Amino acid sequence: TVVVVGSVNIDLVVRTPLIAPPGHTVIATGSSTGSGGKGGNQAAAVARLGGACRLIAAVGPDFDPSSLPGVDLSLVRVTAEPTGLAVVMLDSIGENAITVVPGANALLAPADLGPFTGPPGVLLASLEVPLPAVLAAARAARAAGWTVVLNPAPAHSLPDSLLADVDVLVPNEHELAALGDPDDLLATGVGAVVVTLGAAGCRINRPGDVRSVPAHPVRAVDTTGAGDAFCGALAWALDTGRDLDTAVRLAVVAGALATRAVGARAALATAAEITAAGIT
Ligand code: ADP
Repeated sequence: TVVVVGSVNIDLVVRTPLIAPPGHTVIATGSSTGSGGKGGNQAAAVARLGGACRLIAAVGPDFDPSSLPGVDLSLVRVTAEPTGLAVVMLDSIGENAITVVPGANALLAPADLGPFTGPPGVLLASLEVPLPAVLAAARAARAAGWTVVLNPAPAHSLPDSLLADVDVLVPNEHELAALGDPDDLLATGVGAVVVTLGAAGCRINRPGDVRSVPAHPVRAVDTTGAGDAFCGALAWALDTGRDLDTAVRLAVVAGALATRAVGARAALATAAEITAAGIT
């Protein structure tokens, strides 16, 4: 099982010729709403691959369970606060400016975590929820023999006590800059640092060993959620018993395929599509 601890948001995407600077008004060309949040997106990626997935999150009364088919939502707590909201301004050249209203996500607490029982699986956590919940999840999962994958997004520095409980840390370049040098991170006890590099693929850092993994070629339409698809696929592959190198090669394909359509969950990869790309 993959247990995902993270945010659930509603994404309000506003398409506009240009993103209004402070004090200015612009007329947008259109808008759409979709399901998002790093936790929700990562859980959706695992379920799409056919993996068993449980999401631990806090949402509002407006949450729609049908937005996460195939995901065990028994530990999603419905609070009186509204579901988190991400307002995404998207301009005509694909640049974006995003403001996130945490809403119910801010209420996620250590008490929301169920026990990590049964055969050891993989914990996948990200940082759009309060740090105490992430710390408690990593500690409990590690103590139960689970593999801990942390996507340190959005960018945030982290206490060494958390890093010591992490098996695989998955930052993008921007998030890595907030964390420091991979060698320093490895020295705190992190097992491996997998840095995602967008269209350049990723880099796996292990003690005394750095290797690059090229991207899977794709005609990218929208890279929103590529990182979430990558993380979900990595966690799923580790949960199926694959080693880290194989799991990363598989995640690189999943990240690329997720860019095929507009929206974070519009083009998530199936296991068959990954097999078709030659990765087993
Ligand atoms: P984030 O979405 O968190 O910023 P990245 O942009 O680094 O993360 O994307 C995550 C992964 O998705 C990359 O490591 C790569 O494997 C894949 N990916 C992202 N953008 C592309 C692209 N344009 N072409 C091919 N693969 C991509």
